[in-house]
Amino acid sequence: MTPGKKVCIAGGGPAGVMLGLLLARAGIDVVVLEKHEDFFRDFRGDTVHPSTLNILDALGVREKFDAIPHKPLPRLDVVANGVRVHAIDFTTLPPPNRMLTLMPQWDLLDLLAATGKRHPTFDLRMGAEAVDVTRAADGRVNGVRVRTRDGEDVIPADLVVAADGRHSTVRDVLNLVPRAQGVPCDVLWFRLPYPHSDLPDTLAWISEEGMVITIPRPDYLQCGMIIPKGSFDEMREEGLAAFRERLARAVPPLRAVVEQLESLDDVSLLSVQIDRLEQWWTPGALLIGDAAHAMSPAFGVGVNYAIQDAVAAARVLVPALRSGGAADIDAACVAVQRRRELPTLLMQRIQRAVHRTIATGRGVRLVDNPPTRMQRAVMRVAIPIARRLMARLVGYGFRPERL
Ligand SMILES: Cc1cc2nc3c(=O)[nH]c(=O)nc-3n(C[C@H](O)[C@H](O)[C@H](O)COP(=O)(O)OP(=O)(O)OC[C@H]3O[C@@H](n4cnc5c(N)ncnc54)[C@H](O)[C@@H]3O)c2cc1C
Repeated sequence: MTPGKKVCIAGGGPAGVMLGLLLARAGIDVVVLEKHEDFFRDFRGDTVHPSTLNILDALGVREKFDAIPHKPLPRLDVVANGVRVHAIDFTTLPPPNRMLTLMPQWDLLDLLAATGKRHPTFDLRMGAEAVDVTRAADGRVNGVRVRTRDGEDVIPADLVVAADGRHSTVRDVLNLVPRAQGVPCDVLWFRLPYPHSDLPDTLAWISEEGMVITIPRPDYLQCGMIIPKGSFDEMREEGLAAFRERLARAVPPLRAVVEQLESLDDVSLLSVQIDRLEQWWTPGALLIGDAAHAMSPAFGVGVNYAIQDAVAAARVLVPALRSGGAADIDAACVAVQRRRELPTLLMQRIQRAVHRTIATGRGVRLVDNPPTRMQRAVMRVAIPIARRLMARLVGYGFRPERL
């Protein structure tokens, strides 16, 4: 290995921490910068997909993962217009990981960070914000300017990786601008206790009110109401009682607990975004995860895609960092984009189609309640096929990566 080859990753999300861990595991010196002091923030995807579980298996940390509270979901239902459909069946996937798992993302990140710290070349710095890059005389990126509570510092690096999410600072200072794909909706994010009735694991409730997702976290339901972009102000004006009523109409079992939403201040507005960079690299720098391509929450695949980017990147970067020069490192960055661009583009197209259906309220017209005889016949044939396809699409996405 060329001594002193060093990578600096901006962003300690799923993409950044996983890449840091994989590089350190291969003996590469890596610094991961996370601007927050901990991973404990709520607005992150909670889904650990079968493909990610396969990677955790390959990393040998499955026992540790299993020891953390989580919820395996072998099947997921969708309720459309009051009709419950067993829409996704992960048990149709190849063994061993035939389920989606829900685990608060901070727990997953803590596990990955702890695994990384077993390697002496892994250096995770919390409370360290990347504010700029440094460049060599020829313009090549050769380091990161970082701000901590002790002041500013520069971390020199042979490669800088931007994994700092959808509002990437590193992407901004590299003057790279992603092309936004119009998304007609936003998400309202809030928690509710489980209603007393046994609620089957249900991913989405599609009704005239739009779509509500209910993510079964161990102690509560994490709810997301998809609303037309810009309509939250109007909902605020209508007030809490109207919001509770809308929610109860959209998800009838929640009527028993909507009163426990005490204020609209407990409802956070999250802007949904889909975008993609035309070029995921520049000499000396690579962008992965949401920094290269913001994923919407549709199908909850963003975390999975971020991790897949990291795995693909580690595979091609390690040989270049071990024995190559600057040109080899840049060629590896080009290869990462070549490998991950198509799977991303395809998934984003599907996400946009889903958004269009929800935003126009067409989702509710998928099926009558009760379904007509014709709809029942179509569902009998189509749903078993869709169940498998959806399991594959959600569980693995396109072109799953292996360690
Ligand atoms: C409402 C909502 C719900 C979602 N739900 C799901 C879901 O259920 N499942 C799913 O798979 N996906 C979901 N997604 C998408 C998912 O959150 C992202 O696709 C995924 O988190 C991307 O991972 P990442 O590592 O690229 O970026 P992020 O997860 O955004 O991580 C970036 C990290 O970089 C840090 N950072 C930012 N700037 C700097 C800086 N300058 N210096 C240092 N650190 C910095 C941030 O603090 C953060 O920790 C959801 C998205 C939204 C908006």
